[in-house]
Amino acid sequence: MEKKLPASKDKVLFTPGPLTTSLSVKQAMLRDAGSWHFEFNALVLEIREKLLEIAGLTRERGYEAILMQGTGTFGVESVLGSVVPPEGKILILSNGAYGERMLQMAGHLRLNAEVLRSSEDQTPDLDSLRQVLQADSSITHVAAVHCETTTGILNPIHEIGAIVREARRIFILDAMSSFGAIPIDFERAGIHYLISSANKCLEGVPGFSFVLCLRSALLSAEGHARSLSMDLLGQLRGFEKNGQFRYTPPTHSILAFEQALKEFFQEGGVVGRGARYATNHRVLLAGMSRLGFKSYLPPSVQSYIITSFVFPADVRFEFSDFYRRLSDRGYIIYPGKISKADTFRIGSIGRVFESDMRDLTHAVGDVLQDMGITLASGQNPASGAVSGSQPLLQATAV
Ligand SMILES: *Cc1c(COP(=O)(O)O)cnc(C)c1O
Repeated sequence: MEKKLPASKDKVLFTPGPLTTSLSVKQAMLRDAGSWHFEFNALVLEIREKLLEIAGLTRERGYEAILMQGTGTFGVESVLGSVVPPEGKILILSNGAYGERMLQMAGHLRLNAEVLRSSEDQTPDLDSLRQVLQADSSITHVAAVHCETTTGILNPIHEIGAIVREARRIFILDAMSSFGAIPIDFERAGIHYLISSANKCLEGVPGFSFVLCLRSALLSAEGHARSLSMDLLGQLRGFEKNGQFRYTPPTHSILAFEQALKEFFQEGGVVGRGARYATNHRVLLAGMSRLGFKSYLPPSVQSYIITSFVFPADVRFEFSDFYRRLSDRGYIIYPGKISKADTFRIGSIGRVFESDMRDLTHAVGDVLQDMGITLASGQNPASGAVSGSQPLLQATAV
């Protein structure tokens, strides 16, 4: 780091998480809480209930919310490692890095696993899913990702869930980057386990993930856990025994999450938050296409969570330089993760608004100009001039 005076504010994060959070969420962490203390335990219980409420579920209908220390990955791994019996088999639907990560976990956990892959710009083939489930009766569990944050593609979980339910298998959903901002009908999708985390669309800070699940399914997985600390049923039993996490809880992250949930409900829950993110995405897309950028995904499968943009064809475009210049202006974007195409990503989630998206795209225009990237029309991107329907930059073919 160069020697500089401390900045007056943080850079704005346009990433898949951790995200920009409100000042009030950050301030809620300036306290110390005893992990065994009754007030803290009451807060943990309240958070577990609110999470069920967000999903439209109740304990009376047989659902549980279980908090798990660690990042989102820990939550997914705790489910995979706790619920698949030794003689069971998991089918993983993969069209991006997070599907592949589940497959990696299955390898480490020594689970019998099968993968049904589709390309990163396509949702899973539902007929193939039906056929695989029909052909292989040893498959007991199916795992899918809702919004594949690798690209921003939105997978059709209600359709996938209907097929899984018809085939009478257990359905595990990684809804890390969608829960709280994209409506999920738990019962219609036949979800048994849903995993998300504190620092994505609920706008808390990192520190824990959570699993929403059908209690009866988890109880029937008794004895399958392959880890002590990440034993999902063990964790539930811990909460039920004395209201506590079994091992040190992320106290500050829980305090911040209490405030984050207040602000989530204040915004109008899933509908309100989803509407803000959708607007953010629209403003971003309009600004970027005015500059000549092309998004990687076809609009029909693109979510409003995060957007992948294809690198411009201009040889002077170098991502690290582009990234650095945006950072110097106070904007943090994200590198791409797609194997077949050169892309970068811009998230629309976190405590950012329409005006932030507009500021960002103006900064992108300025940066292009500074990088000397000449536009096909010879016009200045920073001036906001648009030349008819002709994109100003030639984007590389996908
Ligand atoms: C963020 C994310 C995860 C978990 O990532 P962590 O870095 O472990 O928090 C898992 N799946 C998806 C789809 C995600 O977006």
